[in-house]
Amino acid sequence: TELIAGTHAFDWITRFTHAFGAAQQALTDLDRLAGDGDFGTNIASALRRTSDALPDRDIATFGTVFGAMSRGFLATGGTSGPLFGMCFRDISRSASADGANVVELAAGVASGLATIQKLGGAKVGDNTMIDALAPASDALTAAADDGATLGQAFAAAAAAARVGAESTGDLVASRGRASYVGELARGVLDPGAVTIALFFESGAATIGV
Ligand code: ADP
Ligand code: MG
Ligand code: MG
Repeated sequence: TELIAGTHAFDWITRFTHAFGAAQQALTDLDRLAGDGDFGTNIASALRRTSDALPDRDIATFGTVFGAMSRGFLATGGTSGPLFGMCFRDISRSASADGANVVELAAGVASGLATIQKLGGAKVGDNTMIDALAPASDALTAAADDGATLGQAFAAAAAAARVGAESTGDLVASRGRASYVGELARGVLDPGAVTIALFFESGAATIGV
């Protein structure tokens, strides 16, 4: 497939919601070690609002699916919900009427990354979701430049996001609540970065190669 149509976007978000549900307790435990322990409930409530607002699968468009995601996350308390929400809003606006191709997806994710960095001020290496999102965005941009298929682009983005998420275990935070515990959080993965990896892995599993 060369276009993420509405049904693909719907299935991607559904798969991500299930993947998040399976990881929710572990991600909450990470936020308890390095933050305040509300990450899992924050994101679960955002995903519940999203699924309540999703259009029916057969009439879904890329824009309406990511629009529902954006609103669901923007209405969430905590730091990560609004940041994810702004990113999903940029992604929702990247698509054409029929869906998003590799170039549009790469542009939407790059724009979402820039928005999160503008709002939150985090750079790569600050032990946040940026450590997974920035390499995923770079991988998508490279895939778009190379004329890769969506499957190849998602595989590259998912792999890059996972490597980036794993890298946060070695980092000491300088942004967000994890910065309050400093060295104590060494060895603890950043839950926002792991969630970004789950997001692109769910896309890769949905869109295929
Ligand atoms: P809070 O810390 O307000 O309780 P959450 O628990 O919902 O917020 O989210 C924590 C996540 O937010 C972290 O794992 C990290 O990925 C992300 N985060 C925190 N601060 C920033 C920031 N300035 N920029 C980007 N992401 C951030
Ligand atoms: Mg928290
Ligand atoms: Mg909190």
